[in-house]
Amino acid sequence: NLDRNDDGRARNILVFVRVRPMAKKEKEVGSRSCVRIVNNREIYLTEFANENDYLRLKRLRGRHFTFDASFPDAASQQEVYSTTTADLVEAVLQGRNGSVFCYGATGAGKTYTMLGTFDNPGVMVLAIKDLFNKIRQRSYNGNQTVHLSYLEVYNETVRDLLSPGRPLVLREDKQGIVAAGLTQYKAYSTDEVMTLLLRGNQNRTTEPTRVNETSSRSHAILQVMVDYQALDANMNVIRHVGKLSLIDLAGSERAIATDQRTARSIEGANINRSLLALSSCINALVEGKKHIPYRNSKLTQLLKDSLGGSCKAAMIANISPSNLSFGETQNTLHWADRAK
Ligand code: ADP
Ligand code: MG
Repeated sequence: NLDRNDDGRARNILVFVRVRPMAKKEKEVGSRSCVRIVNNREIYLTEFANENDYLRLKRLRGRHFTFDASFPDAASQQEVYSTTTADLVEAVLQGRNGSVFCYGATGAGKTYTMLGTFDNPGVMVLAIKDLFNKIRQRSYNGNQTVHLSYLEVYNETVRDLLSPGRPLVLREDKQGIVAAGLTQYKAYSTDEVMTLLLRGNQNRTTEPTRVNETSSRSHAILQVMVDYQALDANMNVIRHVGKLSLIDLAGSERAIATDQRTARSIEGANINRSLLALSSCINALVEGKKHIPYRNSKLTQLLKDSLGGSCKAAMIANISPSNLSFGETQNTLHWADRAK
């Protein structure tokens, strides 16, 4: 039963898998698909080309996983949005907080899923579009605001992607953790948001050696704050304040095995710190622990008010279908499996 944890608590974190289409490069080197989706939920990892003996695979360790939904490579952006995030948007409109994560190796489709393209906008844009439409329908007096902040955690340093400059300092105040001086962009329409986010993405940290590519160690966090007033069933005016966080996580592949003393491996260790801290928090939440170790990284400090408690979360694990990525895919699915 996926609706409840082993000890009967309702699950506030739902876990999904999305397989991206085979890339041209992968095809050119003759790779074949090693993933099979069954019943829209179960996913099998196969080692051999025509391996369809699911009963046998089910008995093998690390070859069979069940998630809240598994999306094949043909799934549309809208389908992924509707299944993974639409309910969270509804919760945010009721005044709760929520977060959506994309997790997976570099090249697995995280940024495509979160941001997408002009022609195929991803979860971030579709969520904002849905928020705008619903607030417009429900607002009592038109006094609504939607504020956006877009920030990066790279090497345990927080930066404003909408107004790049010096690193931001995290402070704890009455409302929780705030990044001092972070831009809060007041958005009026969906159209401007894609441009804004694409520009923000260009401000993500790049590797010195690959100037046109976003660093695989950069986490991008979009926070959408909504504030509006609506009438309840008894015609009372109720103010709703909610926040949705959408996170394009750093690549989950193991930190490059280099000399422990080089700067690169230190960076790797720090990325692991935020990803590891996130894993620890999620595992602690799933296990129903009292203490959740938010303080261990910048990422988890920033998400403290968006995970746990009455918050809802969605985890989208992105994978390549290629047998050349079998190991990474297995790691990703194993990680996702532990978030259930
Ligand atoms: P990541 O952010 O995880 O490193 P990307 O999102 O950049 O990976 O995806 C790698 C490449 O695959 C990009 O060229 C992207 O456009 C493409 N891609 C990823 N997912 C899909 C998809 N579902 N449909 C079509 N193209 C995709
Ligand atoms: Mg990316």
